[in-house]
Amino acid sequence: MVRTVAELKTASRKLLEAAGRVGEEGAEPVSLGLVPTMGALHSGHATLIRQARAENDVVVVTVFVNRLQFDDPADYERYPRTLDADAALAGEAGADVVFAPEEHEVYPDGTPRVLVSAGDLGARFEGRSRPGHFDGMLAVVAKLLHYGNPEAATAVPTPYRAYFGQKDAQQLAIVQRLVKDLAYPVEIRPVPIVRAEDGLALSSRNQFLTDEDREAALVLSRALFLMKERAESRLPLQPDDAVALIASEPRVELDYFEIVDPETLQVLAFNCQDTPFTGTALALVAARVGSVRLIDNMPLTDGVR
Ligand code: AMP
Repeated sequence: MVRTVAELKTASRKLLEAAGRVGEEGAEPVSLGLVPTMGALHSGHATLIRQARAENDVVVVTVFVNRLQFDDPADYERYPRTLDADAALAGEAGADVVFAPEEHEVYPDGTPRVLVSAGDLGARFEGRSRPGHFDGMLAVVAKLLHYGNPEAATAVPTPYRAYFGQKDAQQLAIVQRLVKDLAYPVEIRPVPIVRAEDGLALSSRNQFLTDEDREAALVLSRALFLMKERAESRLPLQPDDAVALIASEPRVELDYFEIVDPETLQVLAFNCQDTPFTGTALALVAARVGSVRLIDNMPLTDGVR
């Protein structure tokens, strides 16, 4: 485990050099995979780390609870912090290094005065319910992508990939735009959602659900799977049925349920009520269950592709 950017650079350089002939003519390029997290790691995170392990010579996991992306200070304070267990899980899943910086390492001058804006992509859905969340997320991701860049450690072009879960579909879309629009030399690798056997999407916040709330929360994935079945059968989606299903669970307070374009996150204008589903889409849901805000989503395809 390393705590400073300088230590991370040294560790990355040593590992990359040990993995191959860095920068030598004709040598296979060595690669680095970065997995940014906020810790409280579970098997969803482990899946990202294992994929990074399978695709790269060196794997760096970052653990940083980023105050800037919390719109609610109480949520930030109670966010689970389990660094020792995280280091153990990351190591088992194949991480070479865990970079767990203190806040002053990431934000030495306090809150940054210049921020990257998530623009209109950051204003809807999660962004509407959590003002400032995505700009705060970008504040740290924009820096972590620099800190992890293997070229900064080796001074030669080195394949660089960063792993993000589709669990946070809006975050993933925004990070993909960051990389494109600000020319980051990194390939973003999306990883499908990991669910518990009963369908609940794994999340570090699930541990705050009571048994009753956890049971009630299953209505969210059920509603998403209903849309998936209809899409694959090329039936009209009729998302009102999903909304009604969620409304039937009194412990669940729905924030939004939307069918959107997977890349632009524009709400799809097609008539979901009467028209058979064709093509691809993404169903997004957010709801409060007890004291916990949960998000989930489901890629939809007509099964032809
Ligand atoms: P977090 O620590 O919650 O910020 O998540 C770190 C990364 O793990 C993000 O890219 C998340 O999308 C991803 N992630 C979290 N939970 C899951 C899950 N259940 N399935 C897939 N990826 C996940």
